[in-house]
Amino acid sequence: MAEPTQRLFFALWPSAELRDELLQAVTPLRDAAEGRLIPSENYHLTLAFLDRVPERLIPDVVTAAKFVVFQPINLALDCYGVFEQPKVLWYGSRELPESLSVLVAELRDQLAPLVALRPERIFQPHVSVVRQQNQLPNLEPPAKLLWQASDFVLVHSEYGPGRANYTVMERFSAASA
Ligand code: ATP
Ligand code: MG
Repeated sequence: MAEPTQRLFFALWPSAELRDELLQAVTPLRDAAEGRLIPSENYHLTLAFLDRVPERLIPDVVTAAKFVVFQPINLALDCYGVFEQPKVLWYGSRELPESLSVLVAELRDQLAPLVALRPERIFQPHVSVVRQQNQLPNLEPPAKLLWQASDFVLVHSEYGPGRANYTVMERFSAASA
């Protein structure tokens, strides 16, 4: 029988307050976007996508993430963008803070011996907010939101009816949170 696996990714996970702020900030998209709005419970910023991981490796993945040393992250969400494949409209940052690029690089280094990561692309910090969106609607730039993250999470992703279901499995704290 095939070995049991779980679909996993690491992410910054918004607080309930930030989730509400994000939802407010993307209000103009309700009318302007032709795609499907992603429910605010699902908002997140992916740091590393692991895809299917054999369950027997998950404890090692958690241990590896505990070795990641990083500083709290201050991120300004200040622009919209579209990934033409997979047709996602996102709310993200024009700038990549050093602390965030260090976190992503450290995480990849720690995970490399355990899982096959996709080749690194340019890391664009973003929160996906609309699916099935082919192009950027004509909109005013969004409100600027500050995201102060002092931890990151490991998430289990499952296909729910019509939407992804995410479960936070573990949290990892910054060195000087
Ligand atoms: P679904 O695939 O169920 O429609 P989803 O894309 O949100 O929903 P996942 O595919 O599990 O859920 O992806 C989890 C996170 O990882 C998402 O933020 C997604 O954009 C990101 N992700 C998925 N595939 C990749 C990839 N190949 N490279 C980088 N990030 C990815
Ligand atoms: Mg996906």
